[in-house]
Amino acid sequence: MNSSQLLERNARKYPKTEAVIGMGKRYTYKELDQLVNRFAHGLKLLGIGRGDKAVLYMPNVPEFVIVYFAVQRLGAIIVPINAKMTLSEVEYVLENSDAKAFIAHDLLFESVKNLDSNLVLIKTGAPLDDKWISFETVLNDNDSSIECNLPDSSESTILYTSGTTGKPKGVLFSYKNILTVAQMICVEMEIKPESRLLIMMPLSHSAPLHLFFMAGLIVGATSVLTPTFTPDLLIETVEQEKTTHFFGAPVVYLLTAKNPKMETADLSSMKWWIYGSAPLSQPEVEFVQEKFKSDNFICVYGLTEAGPNGTLLSASEHKTKAGSIGKRAALHAEFRIVNPNGEDVQQGEVGEILLRGEGNMLGYYNNIEATAETFIGDWLKTGDLAKIDEDGYIWVVDRKKDLIISGGVNIYPKEVEEVLITHSAINEVAVVGVPHPEWGETVKAYFAASEVFNLEEVKQFAQEQLAQYKVPRLYEQVEALPRNASGKILKQPLREGEVNGLTAKVGN
Ligand code: ATP
Repeated sequence: MNSSQLLERNARKYPKTEAVIGMGKRYTYKELDQLVNRFAHGLKLLGIGRGDKAVLYMPNVPEFVIVYFAVQRLGAIIVPINAKMTLSEVEYVLENSDAKAFIAHDLLFESVKNLDSNLVLIKTGAPLDDKWISFETVLNDNDSSIECNLPDSSESTILYTSGTTGKPKGVLFSYKNILTVAQMICVEMEIKPESRLLIMMPLSHSAPLHLFFMAGLIVGATSVLTPTFTPDLLIETVEQEKTTHFFGAPVVYLLTAKNPKMETADLSSMKWWIYGSAPLSQPEVEFVQEKFKSDNFICVYGLTEAGPNGTLLSASEHKTKAGSIGKRAALHAEFRIVNPNGEDVQQGEVGEILLRGEGNMLGYYNNIEATAETFIGDWLKTGDLAKIDEDGYIWVVDRKKDLIISGGVNIYPKEVEEVLITHSAINEVAVVGVPHPEWGETVKAYFAASEVFNLEEVKQFAQEQLAQYKVPRLYEQVEALPRNASGKILKQPLREGEVNGLTAKVGN
């Protein structure tokens, strides 16, 4: 069964259950299915059909869901993109994905109003000029159901990587890839028809969309959408909507835990708190658990290309192994950690994580070369370096592309960053390898701080806590570190020195 058929089934089975809530609107499964049919009929009249690509540029709003299913119902391929993308990034994706339609939300329209394109252009709210068709006009009066009998092995979705490793690449998924990942979360997080999922993380990302929203679809649960995240909004929405499950990045939990309203907040409806994309250390987990008054935290590890389906750290394992990604593969996934010769590593030895399973992408869209480089047979190379401890738990050491090799010795920037960030004046830090005539690479630390201060002081601080060969030789204070649309630090411009420092550099 593909996702569009699942929606139809829910409309029959749970017609009165609320499917989607957001922006003051509430749609039952029956209402949602009708709106999807109406929008699909409208898109069909505009010439959208099987195999066409439609780029979706919306925050988490009910219209996102309507467009998502309407496009798939026509056998077309949906391409949801990050709401923070700039005009030039949007133009890149439209070209790279061979898009036939672009559908934007009024809330984001300012960024794309100058888009010059011959594609089918649709926007919510009032149309700007004749180039743009309004969303409301596309909604046809005809709500008769449209047969979509595509097998679940068919291409359904393209998600763009966030581009921390270069130009964003289109990750192509089948219906089966996505529903596999969603099934995993249904089982692990006990998602049931009466569950109410709070979706604040952007639906254009694989984890909120596949792990979370689609899990709700499988069982006929309710999704509560918010277009942004703030700690206040999280607290208010849980209290008002009595949500039961939440997925967020660690920073979301840390920011919320620090919010004074947490002292009196009533989050008792919540059953599971899920996080991923980065670890929470043991002290951070304890702090968050105390403020959230819950031990029910689950960590998921994965990457877009894997669905994201990888490994899990369960709630009970957080007592002693927070910061690791667990020792158990998620349902439908398998992992290996291998050395450069492709052999499984010994305990304590660093190797690359490989993932295999139904969640893995079909490949990068229109990029056979990059796809071939990413797979060894049916094993996906994650680019994450990790080691296994004496109890079998996996600890991500760093990303392979960030590894610094100086004078033949491996240095993991993450380890150096974790030390520097403990300096009270430093707010953010990124450590990279920059070319060095003798050693190949040398270690450089970029940091942003609340005040301009003596760089020698930072060096001394690093020297006190790190082995000599890991201590950065070069330092540069910057106003802010460069980040991509999803907030991850972009290390490439730092390696290439494309950042203007605030103060003089130190080091040799
Ligand atoms: P790009 O692929 O363009 O570099 P990205 O890094 O944002 O973009 P994602 O798929 O969003 O790509 O991120 C996946 C990466 O996040 C993983 O490869 C891993 O490095 C990290 N990650 C994910 N979950 C965890 C976790 N639980 N603990 C530690 N790291 C994690």
